[in-house]
Amino acid sequence: SSGDEGKSGKSYTVATDNNFVPFEFLNEDTGEMEGFDMDLIRAVADEAGFEVEIESMKFDGVVAGMQSGRYDIGIAGMTITEERAETIDFSEPYYDAGLTIAVQESNSDIKSEDDLAGKKVGTRSGTTSEQYLKENHPDAEVVTFPGIVEAYMDLQAGRVDAVMYDVPNVKYYVNNDAKGELKTVGETLQGEQYGIAFPKDSELVDPANEALQTLIDNGTYDDIYEEWFGE
Ligand code: GLN
Repeated sequence: SSGDEGKSGKSYTVATDNNFVPFEFLNEDTGEMEGFDMDLIRAVADEAGFEVEIESMKFDGVVAGMQSGRYDIGIAGMTITEERAETIDFSEPYYDAGLTIAVQESNSDIKSEDDLAGKKVGTRSGTTSEQYLKENHPDAEVVTFPGIVEAYMDLQAGRVDAVMYDVPNVKYYVNNDAKGELKTVGETLQGEQYGIAFPKDSELVDPANEALQTLIDNGTYDDIYEEWFGE
């Protein structure tokens, strides 16, 4: 199939996270994956002139799927890290994020990351939060879950004392599903940027970056942003 990459008609597999609101999640009514990342990758594909077939999985499966080359593209609110960049290629950054802490609304004990020692802190396996907790909070009892929603549910049920996760995901969850039950505390802990992922040396990196820039320049990126993060 050499020679026609990036041209019209070619179809690529996209690995995504099965639940990371509001970037990717299943719309139960339509059976389609929806969210900021889903709109963005479909727009990138349109712009670059290829088709995409989306497959959802656990977050660590997306990372592994890039490393093995099993999928052509990965988009999953994936933080660009030096460590991942050794085995995966990334597009230019497309979203500024960071980490934060959620606790029960009634909690007055945990006000920032300084109060995590001896506490049960939930997060998701294979993520930057897990790594951050291991490196910076050896005194906390870290509990990892395959899906972040399970961590939030355990927090609501009082089985963990706090959850550490990506700011946009925590905020969205706290303002929607867990409104009045959970709140965020402290400052943004670690600035992070999301990138579209590719197997190492993929020829899709350049066309994807060009398409991304066009979408930023022509306002499409802002429209998608507004749809998912607008007030
Ligand atoms: N941004 C985090 C990471 O890359 C979590 C992403 C996710 O859960 N989809 O580790």
